[in-house]
Amino acid sequence: IEALDPFLHAYITVTPEEALAQAREADARWTAWRRDPSTSLPPLNGIPLAIKDVICVRGVRCTCGSRILENFVPPYDATAVARLREAGAVFLGKTNTDEFAMGSSTENSAFGPTRNPWNPERVPGGSSGGSAAAVAADLCAGALGTDTGGSVRQPAALCGVVGLKPTYGRVSRYGLVAYGSSLDQIGPITKDVRDAALLLQIIAGPDPRDATSWPAPVPDYTQALIPDLRGMRVGVPPEYFIPGMQPEVERAVREAIEVLAELGAEVIEVSLPHTRYALPTYYLIAPAEASANLARYDGVKYGLRIQGETIWDTYRLTRGNGFGPEVKRRIMLGTYALSAGYYDAYYLKAQKVRTLIRQDFERAFERVDVIVCPTSPTTAFRLGERTADPLQMYLADIFTITANLAGICGISVPCGFDGEGLPIGLQILGPALGEEKILRVAYAYE
Ligand code: GLN
Repeated sequence: IEALDPFLHAYITVTPEEALAQAREADARWTAWRRDPSTSLPPLNGIPLAIKDVICVRGVRCTCGSRILENFVPPYDATAVARLREAGAVFLGKTNTDEFAMGSSTENSAFGPTRNPWNPERVPGGSSGGSAAAVAADLCAGALGTDTGGSVRQPAALCGVVGLKPTYGRVSRYGLVAYGSSLDQIGPITKDVRDAALLLQIIAGPDPRDATSWPAPVPDYTQALIPDLRGMRVGVPPEYFIPGMQPEVERAVREAIEVLAELGAEVIEVSLPHTRYALPTYYLIAPAEASANLARYDGVKYGLRIQGETIWDTYRLTRGNGFGPEVKRRIMLGTYALSAGYYDAYYLKAQKVRTLIRQDFERAFERVDVIVCPTSPTTAFRLGERTADPLQMYLADIFTITANLAGICGISVPCGFDGEGLPIGLQILGPALGEEKILRVAYAYE
């Protein structure tokens, strides 16, 4: 990290003292276990991990990539972090993110962008670009990201690593700073599929502190890691192969589908007809929820406070200076969509279309076990290339946001390179609580 991160900027905060203290404890547990193997060694003992800076780690500042939380130190661990800690993991620090996870390139971070380790002129994707770059550059063994519309899977694809978005509710959101509460999920970003299964195993499961967490018990995900695909039905949706996508991406994904067939899978075409409404639906629902969630940053309870003459001045100064331009854009979009007179036309309509998108998947998953498609329509784009045009940036999520709207799970695994040596991601989507299926297909393919 010392050697590479001044250039890559995958981390916002590095915590060497805490990490070394945790490592010493892990060493002590290991020594004790060597002496007496009847004692138990926690499953991730001493494994160095990085945590996206929208997830609370006790005693370490959690900036969310924003000036408004630059000095906010949470006094508690997120449930996912507490479970990793309990499992013996060592935390190296907090990784860079688009401000409040709003973005697809990590360029919306108030602390400057992260570079893609494969080519430093390119973005790492986002918003969990810091976590994906840190894993790709060996600046940690694995990381947590968050995925509201693709922010685990898309940066994993652009950085040539594995990223898994669990089913909505599979992982507790307690201690995750809320962006779009009905869409947000924490997920692992790792070097390979087995590591993703191992991390998911620890962080998944019901949590009394998150009423939306699934009560279902967590299966043993490593049982799903078998090397063939006999009996698996793999759906391919034509809606995910669109004109304008990078031809090398389409070629790599189609080749990957042939490999799945060689591994024994039956390949079936499935239709997801409402896909074309996903982007506008997402960009109404996510900003609407964000505008409500961000109301808490008022300069009173915590975070930045710029004192004004009146309380209104304090709000205006704190929020006006604390939030960056993309966050302000989302607050305006969301507030508009929720306001009286527009609510029915925008927010309510978007919720109805969301149901149609979910039903598309439910129908498709009656016929197939998983659905495969590209993770991103392009490989990593240039730093600065899309910052002036929000719509171009939003298009980066076109293949990933449907899974969040439908609440289903998905994983991105590397499936080749473009002509410039930039990695391409294969996306495997599964039904709600279908993590074992997507892990099985991803593992067999990898
Ligand atoms: N890029 C999408 C957005 O800006 C998704 C981000 C995410 O998944 N956190 O909303």
